[in-house]
Amino acid sequence: IVLDKTGTVTSGVMSVSMVRPVDAAALDADALLRLAAAVEAGSEHPVARAIVVAATSRAIEVPRATDFVSLPGAGARAAIKGTVVTVGRADLFDEVPQALARPTVDGTTVWVGWGGRAHASLTVADTVRRSSQRAVRDLAELGLPAYLLTGDHDQAALTVARDVGIPVGRVIADVRPQDKHAMIADLQKRGKVVAMVGDGVNDAAALAQADLGIAMGTGTDVAADSADIVLLRSELPAVVDAIELSRATLRTIKQNLGWAFGYNIAAIPLAMAGLLNPMIAGAAMAASSVLVVSNSLRLRRWSRQG
Ligand code: ADP
Ligand code: MG
Repeated sequence: IVLDKTGTVTSGVMSVSMVRPVDAAALDADALLRLAAAVEAGSEHPVARAIVVAATSRAIEVPRATDFVSLPGAGARAAIKGTVVTVGRADLFDEVPQALARPTVDGTTVWVGWGGRAHASLTVADTVRRSSQRAVRDLAELGLPAYLLTGDHDQAALTVARDVGIPVGRVIADVRPQDKHAMIADLQKRGKVVAMVGDGVNDAAALAQADLGIAMGTGTDVAADSADIVLLRSELPAVVDAIELSRATLRTIKQNLGWAFGYNIAAIPLAMAGLLNPMIAGAAMAASSVLVVSNSLRLRRWSRQG
């Protein structure tokens, strides 16, 4: 089972925890946040929302940007008074000054810049959903090892993986949206049946590729459209419930089929041989239906053990 990081394992409600300008004397943190917010106003990515909220809560007046371009899985770009400003991953810039090069461990780092050069880094912190750790453990008990898949850099990915108990070997970071899809296909080629849980636009192709695509209800519409299951309760334990309930349902279907066949294989020859009173045979047929329906109705009382 492959889990997307942002918005799936973590809450996706991010907040800006640090703004690091390369030259604070020339342009301070607020000025950079202002530019970043102007660009991100056009994006619905959790990182973008955090940046816009940070600017508004600091009462920074955000200028209007034009020519907005979304770069899925990487960032966003827009023009502010003739300057094209980029916000996003380090690889969107030709030059990232040494002082800004290292991403911080405690969150997602994005860069703001123009003219090919990054001028500041912003750290956006996200919280791991409290229930994620238990869900990862429960999934393992169901025989489903969890993988963490993210477009974020590996520092951020490893921190989250450690929090929820996913081993380093099953963390796949720095993945572009199109590669998320390829990763799933790759696991399938190795003979695995793959479920994917995600929430973002960048997860849509992967959700469609997976044998079972599960979208978070709080996620984007594209994710929901590409998925087989949409979780109304947007947290990972709901995935565990869905899989357990599905297994219980399949078990019931098999039991019912077993009963119905057994019954008929025994009774039809008797009836053909004239050894069964038609009235009793009719009653037996009805009883068989009642049995199957009652057995199925037990699923209504299904609830998670433990
Ligand atoms: P995830 O796979 O964890 O859901 P995404 O694929 O959506 O993450 O994004 C990968 C990375 O690209 C983010 O961690 C962030 O660094 C960057 N990014 C994506 N969209 C934006 C944006 N609108 N603004 C800034 N950075 C972005
Ligand atoms: Mg996501």
